[in-house]
Amino acid sequence: MFLIRPEPEYDESLESYIIRLAEENRFRVKKLFPHLAKLLQKQRGKLAGAMATDLSRFNLYHANTSSSKRYWALHQLSELCCKDRMPLLEMAVLKTSRRFGEKHTALFWKGLDIPRIFFRSESIPICPQCLKEKPYILVFWHISLVRACPKHQTLLIESCPQCGLAIDYIRHGELHTCPCGFELSTAVAKPANPKLVRLSEQVYGFKPESSDQDNLLFRKSTTEAVFGAVLWFKQWVEKESDSSPLVDDDFLLRCIEFFDDWPARLSSRLEKLAYEGLEYSERSMKETAFRSLFGALLKISRYLPDDRLASNEVLKTVFAFLDQIVFQEDHPYSEIAHTLLDSFEACVILGVSIKQLARLIEDGLLHPCKQLKDKEQVNPTTPLFRLKDVFVLWSVSFQSRHSNRNLYLSRW
Ligand SMILES: [Zn+2]
Ligand SMILES: [Zn+2]
Repeated sequence: MFLIRPEPEYDESLESYIIRLAEENRFRVKKLFPHLAKLLQKQRGKLAGAMATDLSRFNLYHANTSSSKRYWALHQLSELCCKDRMPLLEMAVLKTSRRFGEKHTALFWKGLDIPRIFFRSESIPICPQCLKEKPYILVFWHISLVRACPKHQTLLIESCPQCGLAIDYIRHGELHTCPCGFELSTAVAKPANPKLVRLSEQVYGFKPESSDQDNLLFRKSTTEAVFGAVLWFKQWVEKESDSSPLVDDDFLLRCIEFFDDWPARLSSRLEKLAYEGLEYSERSMKETAFRSLFGALLKISRYLPDDRLASNEVLKTVFAFLDQIVFQEDHPYSEIAHTLLDSFEACVILGVSIKQLARLIEDGLLHPCKQLKDKEQVNPTTPLFRLKDVFVLWSVSFQSRHSNRNLYLSRW
């Protein structure tokens, strides 16, 4: 069906490749989908219904319940369309079971986990220079943390300079031109703030020159750890709602600044919250929930995207702070060690699941502060466990190679 098969670029989006494939074989993108459905119908009738009917739903992460059917449809298609199999599946963005923070779902593309909230599925900005050099769309432009092109050090452009329409190659079915006819590669991009360029480099996976960077986001770490840290900042520091996808230049610059001189800002923020909690709380700490002082700190810091202290710098800093409060004699905030954690928070400290936590209670290793009635189920959101008890239990019974006190004690 396709006589000409363009070579996919390693960082090209699946939708960009489909547009190029259609263009080179003189199909209009909109006409392509009925065609593909017919082709599947002929060969594999059962799978025909699993195919998306337009480009905006074509990628695999859009599939709801029938994603495995959709996977097979794409597999068949990649074999049917050309003599050689096309690498459509390898280019697809998939769903994954991985989670970030408390409850953020993720997508998977070529070995990279991306929080869903940071993945743009519409209004994808572009770098005009890149487009001029090689006319295809990078998957990285779908990631909202990428505001600048690391190669050309310029800001990506989001709207057509001629008509002001948001650039959206998937909706318009066009890589090079705006519906008004403007040639996008001729747009002039503004120079970008070097910090935004640096952040884009981290997302692209460029390795920094030195590993002893003061800024947590710019250290040698995984791209997922960078995503995790930014998501954590959005949720805990800026207290933005989970569903707000807004990531603009100002937000990212505030975020980068927060992680400068790491972990100084987080440590001083924790101290301030502890001070205010003790100063203004009307109840004794023994009756106070940990979260009433620190918000959802523990839950939000858990999967960034890892919960091992060795690879979760935020959680490591939080543990170092709690460690001082619990173990340091005459610590000014030691009373906070008496505050109460709910089951979810206790699970974060112990690195266990809710089921395992229930087992610890049953076995008498962890004691709720309120007498439970016989066979009473613990409500996981009720503050029931003393921070001190949980932390000491972790310190004596739950040390592991990747999560232990030595990982932070040497720094303090
Ligand atoms: Zn560029
Ligand atoms: Zn335009």
